[in-house]
Amino acid sequence: MVTANQLSINLKSLLKQNNIENYIFESRCIIEFVLNIPYNRLSINPDMVVSEDAVNKIRKIANKRISGYPLQYLLGQWEFFGLPFYVGEGVLIPRQDTETLVESVLNHVQTLNLTKPSVLDLCSGTGCIAIALEKNILSANVCAAELSTTALSYLTKNISLNSSSVTVYNGDVLDEKFAGLFSSLDIITSNPPYLTKKDMQVIPEEVKHEPSMALFGGDNGLLFYEKITAIWKHCLKPGGAIFYEIGMGQETDVANILKENNFTDITFNHDLNGIIRVVSGVYN
Ligand code: GLN
Repeated sequence: MVTANQLSINLKSLLKQNNIENYIFESRCIIEFVLNIPYNRLSINPDMVVSEDAVNKIRKIANKRISGYPLQYLLGQWEFFGLPFYVGEGVLIPRQDTETLVESVLNHVQTLNLTKPSVLDLCSGTGCIAIALEKNILSANVCAAELSTTALSYLTKNISLNSSSVTVYNGDVLDEKFAGLFSSLDIITSNPPYLTKKDMQVIPEEVKHEPSMALFGGDNGLLFYEKITAIWKHCLKPGGAIFYEIGMGQETDVANILKENNFTDITFNHDLNGIIRVVSGVYN
């Protein structure tokens, strides 16, 4: 017989011994998940006796976690911009860094006082950017494009989960014909794959479980910025803007790509670590 308190102590020390940096937080996530306790809404009674079945489940999950499997895939859901998203193998896990992109777009919409803007998110994955924007801009018309059918099934489920009105398109952002379906957009957003060939050789164990299709941005990491800018700028209305998430140190290259494509008002925004994470520009 084991109480929730003993279980929590054991799990924390197991995760800590195995170098899980956020072992306290992760232990809580795993216990709450298995005991079906809504995140942060109920506290666990420390004296509660945990069933053998639940203990076994927790042990299994903990073992997979310490083998390097991402916590988010084990839980099946993750939070982004205060909203829940289904995640699993085949779709990129929403990162906190990406909230900077959402905030940058929301600031732009407010500054220009855009009403009912039309927004398209490319390489949408879980749909975290598209859905967070749709939920936070009044009467926005938001579309999300994704190539991978696995990711697309998460995107569709996440739209329902959040009662969102985002419209989904299955297509390749490198295909000019696909871009031909869109015109007069106010805003394009994208967190495209941006890791270089070198980056891919040193990605952490956990990231290896995520789809390389969502990570690898060609040898120099810039392939998608080059192609998306050239192909999709024609879908913007005059004065429309593009917002990219970028990898650390890519700002000069991405700003140059935007300038070469007649974008002006190039702006950088920093993430919570002070790293330039978003590059945007206006198309004239
Ligand atoms: N931010 C991701 C990472 O750290 C990369 C995501 C992307 O390529 N868009 O691995």
